[in-house]
Amino acid sequence: MESDDCSVKVAVHIRPLIGDERLQGCKDCVTVVSGKPQVQIGSHSFTFDHVYGSTGSPSTEMYQECAAPLVDGLFQGYNATVLAYGQTGSGKTYTMGTGCGDSSTQTGIVPQVMNALFTKIETLKDHIEFQIHVSFIEIHKEEVQDLLDPSTINKSDTKVAHVPGKPPIQIRESSNGVITLAGSTEVSVSTLKEMSACLDQGSVTRATGSTNMNNQSSRSHAIFTISVEQMRKINNNTDSPENGSLKEEYLCAKLHLVDLAGSERAKRTGSDGMRFKEGVHINKGLLALGNVISALGDEKKRKDGAHVPYRDSKLTRLLQVLFDSLGGNSRTVMIACISPADINAEETLNTLKYANRAR
Ligand code: ADP
Ligand code: MG
Repeated sequence: MESDDCSVKVAVHIRPLIGDERLQGCKDCVTVVSGKPQVQIGSHSFTFDHVYGSTGSPSTEMYQECAAPLVDGLFQGYNATVLAYGQTGSGKTYTMGTGCGDSSTQTGIVPQVMNALFTKIETLKDHIEFQIHVSFIEIHKEEVQDLLDPSTINKSDTKVAHVPGKPPIQIRESSNGVITLAGSTEVSVSTLKEMSACLDQGSVTRATGSTNMNNQSSRSHAIFTISVEQMRKINNNTDSPENGSLKEEYLCAKLHLVDLAGSERAKRTGSDGMRFKEGVHINKGLLALGNVISALGDEKKRKDGAHVPYRDSKLTRLLQVLFDSLGGNSRTVMIACISPADINAEETLNTLKYANRAR
């Protein structure tokens, strides 16, 4: 990916039919046009930057094409974001590799990113001093939870999602519009093992929380952030180094790996006595995210300085202001995850439309 290349790429990851769907006798309703990054469902056809089908083992390819350039970019100071989008059960967590204990914890995007990161650091560390930090937060409704909060792990090593009485992380906005996040844990790590431990701890905390809170995890966004700081000493007189003085160069970049909330449209029954809006309700953050990505992906609009609607949700505000992550000096890859099963056809079509708009 070139630095001046379009900063938004969209890939589709189609998972295979899973046990439950097979038992129900579901049919595969999604086809990939051979040799093209094109997906067909019913009479609809969509083209993306990449399509990863359910056959073969696309995980290395997906990593290489979608995430490896972002890891390289980190070392040049480019911020980046990888977002997994799709309905609950479509394979977002599997794609990111942040689930607890399935095979994707080896082959998913995040484990491969971590591997590549430390492999590269190993080759550079004689010349460059690195400082690596991770944070892991979850946005549920308009609240932010810290998944790495040390106080959520008690002595018996059972993890709880949230200590009663402990205030959630605060998003603060000053009068000049600067947003800061108060209270999220940034863990300093120096090895792959330490970073993996943070990922595992946060994933467990998230999963534990979800059983207590009516499957919150399908309705929350989880953001795992790797921050890479580099200090290198550069001699500014390359012709005769002995006469030059040493200049310090500092670079910092962040990579956000985001497992988004399930995109399924909330099913409303009329029985709650409330007048529900015509049409459907999509998670506000996902709607805002779609608008932001669509604005960013539209090169013409970007050049004209068109408004990018970051402020419409906590998710997009967080990604923009805290992390400087969407737009500007940054790259975004969205991986739309879909189920091939005919019973999910409607949601799959919604996901493809959303992803298509982001492109
Ligand atoms: P989500 O996070 O979108 O709710 P999951 O990642 O939990 O979905 O996936 C739902 C189920 O499908 C899990 O049992 C997971 O192991 C399985 N699954 C998802 N993607 C794949 C894949 N590419 N290959 C095999 N199994 C998959
Ligand atoms: Mg999930």
